[in-house]
Amino acid sequence: MTGFSTLLTAVPTGLWIDGSSHESSSGKRFDVMNPATGEVLTTVADGTVTDARRALESAAKVQPEWAATAPRERSEILRRAWEGVMQRSEEFAQLITLEMGKPLAESRGEVAYGGEFLRWFAEEAVRIGGRTTTAPSGNGHIMVVKEPVGPALAVTPWNFPLAMGTRKIGPALAAGCTMLVKPAEDTPLTMLLLAQVFAEAGLPAGVLSVLPTLDAPTVVGALMADRRLRKISFTGSTPVGKAIIAQSAEQVLKTSMELGGNAPFIVFDDADIDAAVDGAMAAKMRNGGEACTAANRFLVHNSIREDFTRTLCARIALTTVGPGYEDGVMLGPLINAKQRDRVAALVDDAVAQGAHVRTGGAALPGPGYFYAPTVIDDVPAGARILTEEIFGPIAVIVGFDTEAEAIASANATDYGLAAYFYTQNLDRASRVARALEVGMVGVNRGVISDAAAPFGGVKQSGLGSEGGSEGIAEYLNTKYIALTP
Ligand code: NAD
Repeated sequence: MTGFSTLLTAVPTGLWIDGSSHESSSGKRFDVMNPATGEVLTTVADGTVTDARRALESAAKVQPEWAATAPRERSEILRRAWEGVMQRSEEFAQLITLEMGKPLAESRGEVAYGGEFLRWFAEEAVRIGGRTTTAPSGNGHIMVVKEPVGPALAVTPWNFPLAMGTRKIGPALAAGCTMLVKPAEDTPLTMLLLAQVFAEAGLPAGVLSVLPTLDAPTVVGALMADRRLRKISFTGSTPVGKAIIAQSAEQVLKTSMELGGNAPFIVFDDADIDAAVDGAMAAKMRNGGEACTAANRFLVHNSIREDFTRTLCARIALTTVGPGYEDGVMLGPLINAKQRDRVAALVDDAVAQGAHVRTGGAALPGPGYFYAPTVIDDVPAGARILTEEIFGPIAVIVGFDTEAEAIASANATDYGLAAYFYTQNLDRASRVARALEVGMVGVNRGVISDAAAPFGGVKQSGLGSEGGSEGIAEYLNTKYIALTP
């Protein structure tokens, strides 16, 4: 750990407001922990409502100027920020591993993926369209223009400390919106370093603020009640998302919601089993299962269920668990003790109802918040683990006999974020992809995220899309101008 002290002293730990780092108006700070050891890494300033209003004041002041900045210039700032992230990619990767716990190789993957939103939206900034048509009556022109929504608030989770921020900051800044980011309290450091990179890239003061706080409900609530705020983009759990949607009604804020998931991973009897197990490892074990897109339920055709389960268990047996910054580690700790205990309770509940543990099935001794990679089979319909988001390295296997049964079971959830399935039959691939009630489908693959693709869910998994050419639309208003001929 001593090797990381230079890195930690280089990260700004104040509130990032008006282009520089500030202490909280309360003078208070809070601890940021290393989930692999339970030790304190450093402290950050604990933002208050007064600080948040100050950041919004500065965002609202610079908003007209930023909206009027040439798209090419906004684009170049975003591009330079992407270059800055790439130049400091190892620092970002180490920081993500330190505060969030994932293995360093995966953190490097997140830096590439998260950084890509800055490059992608740098390219989109100069392609914000509009349209003009002649009115059908012939008595005028219909001109449609796109304008930035205005100051926006991003509230982000801890599982991808960089990417969940850049996926919002990229399109907001490209569209001409200013943005305040409220990062998760477990992982504020990565966003604070990013704010510094943006300042070095030439972003004008006030356009981007980062406000860590231990009191998210009060600080976010005060910002949402302030008439200067025009938009909220939230990524997190469905219950908190619902509370924010309710609050957003007061000011009719434009909202984007990336919420929880309960992804089915279907393996049909005509699947390539080895490929399906590769996909399953990625869809389940990447990020320790702490991903909204993580496979929550493996629905496996009964004729191949034992074969698939055994091969998966054999692969899981090769997983090295430990602190993410140690060589060769493939699975890090869960984010905190609460999350580890929640995961343990879900497994215990399934086992109490008759499920069989095929491998793992228990928390690992500390320090740190580790849970053994686990496979459970014969999970009865009433088990909570089938309906709740697991957010841990637990593969839950359920058998099925017909395609219709698999689809009905996949769709039997209030969530609708991602789904995966494996088949070698093209007709089935097209039919099943259409039948799944989700925003994203992986066909014969276990990883789907791409900055150039629209990421988002249906049902209680969210509203709107991030990434792709769709992502910037979340930060633009449509204005119709009627012109006489
Ligand atoms: P969370 O909902 O507890 O917290 C998310 C953020 O909201 C944090 O910054 C937190 O401080 C803040 N927050 C908490 N309560 C709040 C309140 N009352 N008002 C305003 N802000 C509040 O979620 P989490 O545990 O940090 O993240 C895990 C969840 O995020 C999972 O459900 C996961 O599926 C979801 N997630 C979704 C996506 C997606 O794109 N759909 C991506 C990543 C994570």
